[in-house]
Amino acid sequence: MFLSWMGLVILTFDIEDFINPVSAKALEKILILLKRYSLRAIFFVTGYLTEKLQSLPSLVERLEEHEIGYHSSSHSVRPTIPEYTDTNSYYTAVKTSLDRETSYINPLTGEIEGSGGIYAVREMFSNKEVTAFRSPGFCWTPPHIEALKELGIKYDFSSGIYGIRASTDEVYEFKGLKFFPYPIHITGQIILSLDRCSYYLTKLLLKTMKRKITCLYGHEWELVLKKPWDSIYKLSNPRKLYRTDMLEASKTIKNLFYFEIVLRSIKRLVDLNLIDITTELEKIDFKKINSKNIDVLKTYSKAMEWRINTLNYKPKNLSKHFYKYLKLENKNI
Ligand SMILES: [Zn+2]
Repeated sequence: MFLSWMGLVILTFDIEDFINPVSAKALEKILILLKRYSLRAIFFVTGYLTEKLQSLPSLVERLEEHEIGYHSSSHSVRPTIPEYTDTNSYYTAVKTSLDRETSYINPLTGEIEGSGGIYAVREMFSNKEVTAFRSPGFCWTPPHIEALKELGIKYDFSSGIYGIRASTDEVYEFKGLKFFPYPIHITGQIILSLDRCSYYLTKLLLKTMKRKITCLYGHEWELVLKKPWDSIYKLSNPRKLYRTDMLEASKTIKNLFYFEIVLRSIKRLVDLNLIDITTELEKIDFKKINSKNIDVLKTYSKAMEWRINTLNYKPKNLSKHFYKYLKLENKNI
């Protein structure tokens, strides 16, 4: 158990489907900095990425010094999780999720091609438990998370469950799964920009000290690339994969400089005993939440936010699935 007066911080990074020599270098730099400041993190990796990581053994070795989470079989290819679980039948959505999360997904077609997904991640990191999950874009859906529970996932780091009266930092246990709250971004251009870094950093660190639990998250690509890999798939699956543009060298240097300030500041708070940082999820005290105390509309809206905003995707059946899972009844919003 952690001391209750201390803010508890969980540092997380998402590594998505693709890695090129530049983003591999950025990932290596993140891993070196974490070591320099003695900070351990959870790295959420996709099943598809393991294929690329096979040719980068030194990165795999460094990643093994941290905890490994699962970031879905294929991050960006269509149909995405909210799309393929948006079926009238809840059972069909669970079944499809089980199939896709244990399979290799072709990045050009979105079709299943043999075994992969969570099996590939567990095979690569065979000495890790891989019980934590984060959904791409934080868009989790109930049939999908139930399928992952069957595959041994215990913790969800997507957008979380919202209680009716609760604050935003609660960690809830519901139906045998443990949900972490929506994370705070630490590699976005706001925190890494020259004029606003200190303002946002102060805000971030004050929040971290005040909250019970704060999840922080970042991406290696944000330090070196102009656009996310997801941008390739915005309209549909591409016929041919292409690279996203790199940032100018001066911008990358600045990003790394400010990113190091973020880590150093976190480390300072740890040293001052103002926050505690952990990857030992089993030691965290989760509050059990009942259906009647869940704000389903807020939970559903937060889970759909990114998908609707980025892909302009309008779900048809997902609100029904959220009500079924969270309230055990069918109801339309
Ligand atoms: Zn992601």
